[in-house]
Amino acid sequence: MAKMYYNGDANAAYLNGKKVAVIGYGSQGHAHAQNMRDSGVEVVIGLRKGKSWDKAAEDGFQVYSVGEATAQADVVMILLPDEQQTKVYKEEIEPNLTNQAIMFAHGFNVHFNQIVPPTNCDVLLVAPKGPGHLVRRTYEQDAGVPALFAIHQDVTGEAKELALSYAKAIGSLRAGALETTFKEETETDLFGEQAVLCGGLTALVKAGFETLVEAGYQPELAYFETLHELKLIVDLMYEGGMAGMRYSVSDTAEWGDFVTGPRIVDARVKEEMKAVLKDIQEGKFAQGWIFENQTNRPVYTAIKARENEHLIEKVGKELRAMMPFINQGKKKEVVGSAK
Ligand code: NDP
Ligand code: MG
Ligand code: MG
Repeated sequence: MAKMYYNGDANAAYLNGKKVAVIGYGSQGHAHAQNMRDSGVEVVIGLRKGKSWDKAAEDGFQVYSVGEATAQADVVMILLPDEQQTKVYKEEIEPNLTNQAIMFAHGFNVHFNQIVPPTNCDVLLVAPKGPGHLVRRTYEQDAGVPALFAIHQDVTGEAKELALSYAKAIGSLRAGALETTFKEETETDLFGEQAVLCGGLTALVKAGFETLVEAGYQPELAYFETLHELKLIVDLMYEGGMAGMRYSVSDTAEWGDFVTGPRIVDARVKEEMKAVLKDIQEGKFAQGWIFENQTNRPVYTAIKARENEHLIEKVGKELRAMMPFINQGKKKEVVGSAK
């Protein structure tokens, strides 16, 4: 088994007397900043004026421009959207670097050569394997979200100590951290979200929903069957793996799982997954996404509008409005960005 790192493997005192600038206060930013502050680390926030700035100030942080926050820090954690990072890095972070450690929560820009940090800085990543709001929520529950860490440049010889101390301060070492490389983190993260977690899942749910509705079944029923119930199934897998889920469902469901699952996700799907992975590895996906951003996202905008019009979204909105308990406690958590 791969070596896992837990709380006992980190020198918590490493960040004592050091100042961490968290750049961005969105999904990840607010969680890292608040968790570190609660762990006794000195944190300042770097932002542009706007919604996140006001939120961070309201939450009691000292907020500066990105350049000012960078200049005064020992460690700079870049938690801006990946597609904004190159520009902000070039214009506001790089000119203010002396020898700070530069950190990321995703390797995209360094791995695909969009950000080339100076050779005199430590460069590393600590990437929690979960949404920012859970990074904060689990920390408050004395739990944590597991993380990956990777060292790209180790000038001081202390990069690993920093990575582990940081991972501990955001609560991730309660769940465990695994050492990786920028390449492995970037490629697997992109593959996971495209093929399974986001892309594969939404396509599966939509295809199931459409099949039922096109066959004349009620859309509301199809929504419950293919989307709503998914959470209950995923929770069981999260707690006990596939066997744990299969233990809880009926034997009929389990038999259907065994014989029908491979008919749905068949050899052709796996071949396509391999092609998707190849596009990621060869930088084709990155190139397309960088170009899409440089041209003001024409394809993204068109697809998003079409997706939002899908019947499953209309039906779901109405049904969820009648189940206010689903989103209870959520409002308070959603900060900063449009998320
Ligand atoms: P968000 O979109 O949630 O937040 C981005 C933050 O950056 C906002 O506070 C936004 O402020 C600020 N920002 C955007 N543009 C600028 C700018 N030009 N100048 C200054 N501030 C700006 O980002 P995420 O937290 O989702 O992502 C951050 C990083 O974490 C990425 O590298 C991502 O891959 C990684 N990551 C994200 C995960 C997640 O859960 N979302 C999971 C693991 C890793 P404003 O209000 O002004 O727009
Ligand atoms: Mg991910
Ligand atoms: Mg990702």
